[in-house]
Amino acid sequence: MPGFDAVVRLAARSLNVPLVSLVLHGGETYAYTSGHDSSSRDVGRSQHPFYAETAHRATPQWILDTHLDMRFEDKSLHLSHAHEPIRFFASEPVFTLTGQQIGALCVMDFQPRLALGDAERSALRDAAALAGTGVVLRNYLGRTDPITQLPHRNAFFEDMRVQLSEGMPHAWVMAVDVAPVQRFNAFVRAMGHAYADELIRLAAQRVQGWIPDDVRLYQVGVTRFAALLHDRDMLIDPSRMDALVASLREPFDCLGIPLTIQPGVGLLKIHARELRGGDPLRLVMSASHAAQSHTRGWSIYDRAQDEQQRQEFFLVTELAAALADESELTLHYQPRVDLDHGRCIAVEALLRWHHPTLGLIPPTQFIGLAERAGIMQTLTQWVLDRSMSQLAVWHGEGHDIKLSVNVSSTDLGSGLLERLDHSATRHGVNLSSVELEFTESTLMEHSATTRRYLSAIRELGAGIAIDDFGTGYSNLAALRQMPATSLKIDQSFVRGMTTSRHDEAIVRSVAELARSMDFRVVVEGVETERIYDSVLSMACDEAQGYHVSPPIPGAQVSAWLRSHRGMRARQPT
Ligand code: C2E
Ligand code: MG
Ligand code: MG
Repeated sequence: MPGFDAVVRLAARSLNVPLVSLVLHGGETYAYTSGHDSSSRDVGRSQHPFYAETAHRATPQWILDTHLDMRFEDKSLHLSHAHEPIRFFASEPVFTLTGQQIGALCVMDFQPRLALGDAERSALRDAAALAGTGVVLRNYLGRTDPITQLPHRNAFFEDMRVQLSEGMPHAWVMAVDVAPVQRFNAFVRAMGHAYADELIRLAAQRVQGWIPDDVRLYQVGVTRFAALLHDRDMLIDPSRMDALVASLREPFDCLGIPLTIQPGVGLLKIHARELRGGDPLRLVMSASHAAQSHTRGWSIYDRAQDEQQRQEFFLVTELAAALADESELTLHYQPRVDLDHGRCIAVEALLRWHHPTLGLIPPTQFIGLAERAGIMQTLTQWVLDRSMSQLAVWHGEGHDIKLSVNVSSTDLGSGLLERLDHSATRHGVNLSSVELEFTESTLMEHSATTRRYLSAIRELGAGIAIDDFGTGYSNLAALRQMPATSLKIDQSFVRGMTTSRHDEAIVRSVAELARSMDFRVVVEGVETERIYDSVLSMACDEAQGYHVSPPIPGAQVSAWLRSHRGMRARQPT
């Protein structure tokens, strides 16, 4: 090890000992014996548990005579089988420059001692400090991780190239993700680096226990390992992969605290001829990352899934940028007509995103993405603020209409109440003219908390609509537990109404049932006059759809409202 030779010579000479060794957390021991050639030798893992204890000991220790120490009564201390027992032993912890302890520097003699002088202690301390710098240096040079002592990413690439060019036509790259990065960072904040280091070391040991003996394990990220496996290791034996995942899911005893991790294992088959320029680690990491949220916990790289992830990532960054500069996002509004009078009484705000190169991206494509990327709240905030400012303008012009805004499940419980209240105050809008639309599935997701939340929205004065009713699996009785005011029957039933008697019957009976439960009934997707006419004969209060009007840009709403002559109204009975 670079730097180590000088350190051991320094320690051996100033303490006048024949043996010097460096024991690391991972159990590796580098030892120097005087009389041998000056170079240090790795004698592997020392057997006595005392060495492992010493490697983790954060303070110096010295044992003047091991024969007088109870710990060595049953098993005397040896450096290796070739040597006589060690009588004198002293150690000093070894730290990296950032203060992480990585092991200890030990000096030993076959003769006991009577005392250890101050000068000798400080010489040992200096040598240990130098050893720490030496280990760090070695890691800086890019080969080994100080905690796990596993070779790094650079070594992985070099070894992979060598193996594949030496006649192995293909191999499997395996990546193991120990925990999602965010979770791991939270863990470090809560528990400190010592626990985190220990956890990674223990996880590495389990993976090492699973891979064949002649296969190296590499540390390719803070929480990520990789290995190159031969075809013959029959990797894609699902039960073997299941066993690896199961072993990683077993709780770890991390410095006395039991912990479980969320592992993900990814696999990718690579061919020697495909190597040039590619980055197999990036690809396999997309598989291991995806596998963390699978019940199975491992997955084989899938190009389509990777493409989709990349596309999603691209869209999310574009959407975040669009939100910041606001020029690509607009709102369209779709009129809702009251069937008793044929008059527009409300408009629904619908987001539009015009991407400069991709063109118009439909909300069905980017809303889910925004939810997964955690930017939905910003988006909803923007929609609320923009649409309420519009509503204030329309009210100022004398249009007596209400506004409905779509809200996503990720908005619930994240300051939505405050934002709603704040936007309304800011634009001087009375919340009794605003309705929030939640999809049926959102409402049924966490029913108890959701119910409390919706009640608070109702207390502010806003209405609540159940959107896309009929697409979920909830029944009306369960939904009635929610303090909702309207129910919107999904367009998928409505569109087929005039051709399918089945759909017609569904819409008719749902409307009747909903009305009897005191919901205001809105029918979506009224595309034709025929549908409109048959809806008129049902227990419905409002219609919305292309037959009335498609969604229109905000700037054109006033003109539409002024010129709209009204739809056919229901005959009073
Ligand atoms: P939604 O809330 O059910 O909105 C109605 C959708 O049906 C709109 O699609 C509208 O353009 C479309 N539509 C209206 N009339 C007809 C018709 O007669 N026939 C047919 N076939 N379709 C009609 P759009 O604008 O593409 O929005 C799709 C969905 O995206 C919305 O469904 C809503 O769930 C979501 N969305 C749109 N804007 C927002 C938003 O600002 N926030 C949230 N959270 N979701 C939004
Ligand atoms: Mg809606
Ligand atoms: Mg809908």
